[in-house]
Amino acid sequence: MVSWLGKINLFKMIVLPKLLYRLMAIPIQLPVSFFKMCDELLRDIVWNGKKPRFRKQVLVQLKEKGGLNVPDIKLYHTAASLAGLYDWYHEAKAPEWAYLEKELMGVKTLKDLIVDKGKVPREINLYHPFIGNLLKTWGKTKKKLGLVGDLSPFTPIDSIQIRESNLAPGIRMALKKRGVSTMEQLFLGGKFVSHQRLKSVLKEEISEFQYLQLKAMVSSPLNRESLKREPHKIEKILFKINKASGRLGRLYRELKNALYTPSVDYIMKWGRDLNTSIDQGEEKKIWSHMNKCVFSLEVREIQVKLTTRYYLTPERLKFADPEGGGLCWRGCGEVGTYMHCWWYCGRVQLFWSKVWKIVNKVAAMVVPFRPETALLGLYPNTKCMISCQNSCKIICLAAINIIARHWRSLEDLTMNELLHRIWYMHTMEDFHADLHNKKQDFETIWAPIRKALDNLNGTT
Ligand SMILES: [Zn+2]
Repeated sequence: MVSWLGKINLFKMIVLPKLLYRLMAIPIQLPVSFFKMCDELLRDIVWNGKKPRFRKQVLVQLKEKGGLNVPDIKLYHTAASLAGLYDWYHEAKAPEWAYLEKELMGVKTLKDLIVDKGKVPREINLYHPFIGNLLKTWGKTKKKLGLVGDLSPFTPIDSIQIRESNLAPGIRMALKKRGVSTMEQLFLGGKFVSHQRLKSVLKEEISEFQYLQLKAMVSSPLNRESLKREPHKIEKILFKINKASGRLGRLYRELKNALYTPSVDYIMKWGRDLNTSIDQGEEKKIWSHMNKCVFSLEVREIQVKLTTRYYLTPERLKFADPEGGGLCWRGCGEVGTYMHCWWYCGRVQLFWSKVWKIVNKVAAMVVPFRPETALLGLYPNTKCMISCQNSCKIICLAAINIIARHWRSLEDLTMNELLHRIWYMHTMEDFHADLHNKKQDFETIWAPIRKALDNLNGTT
């Protein structure tokens, strides 16, 4: 059976490339129902048609920000549509179709349409769906990113708006001749160039009046904000010449970065439960712990589910299960909160204290007995701890797995089952380390565990 993390990867490998090819090749406006259908497809593949038990924010957020990085098809559509802007802007290097589109639009340069309000005929949507979609998507994206104004640092010197302002055509031509092609180049360190400097660049006489005219246009309240600002990362990808491959992927990541709320809520909840504030460094540690500590997806899944608060507790199911009244399923009579089920419940505590004997043996030192260490992988930052952290994590993961298995049962959590689980994980990890060519890492993690378990068998 494939784990759901594996299924997400399968979706990314099999469905996504085909979908992206179509989105790139036919960049038209798509109805909301199409994206709904895509989400449903993903849900059918990964969660067998059930509603995923993760928040959307956690699902789609980037991995380095604590999410699971599930593809957001709507955002991919935006990125695929915007990718066409690069060819519009760098017209000299553009493929044939860009020339065709220019002919159709009847404009001097396609640049005019992007960085400028230009003159877009209303009926363009009717007879050219690609151009219509591109302009509409760009307008929407600009609004979402907060890029106000029609002008931008990338507006060409000879764009429609500037041609139409009362600027003397002489200056425009002179600027263009000297290689000043965008508005961005008229600023030095955020300040408009001085008269002297402009003269020396142009190597041509520019009268005080002409200079002031240029300055007035740039610094008018209408244009000031939009011209002086730092170019957005997305604008840089689209309008700066760069030959790095994967423009679509970079755009998609940047859009995700800019449009999604930065923090994931489960970290906040953990902080509240543990009665501490989790700082950024610790937050990052928790995410990397979630994503990198093991080789096989099945083992990683245990950690992801625990950290993102996947499990339903009696407290949360109080309304669906009025008989229980939100009390712990293990029969201790206390309220079954997330922390209670994982750590504070008497039975679980007993189990953890037994587990900790193994952990101490593996680390060959006394590891602090704290919930954040056991559950979230926050170890003290000492030198001797760093070397054995990963081995201790494995034992904790096995214990977490056992607790999750007996989530609703009254049975005791036994050490025998834990040892079985550890050996099973050993086999799985061995196999996956082989697949990924990480035998060396595998040995560093597992050698102390094997040693500790052999010792344990010797003494009992
Ligand atoms: Zn309890």
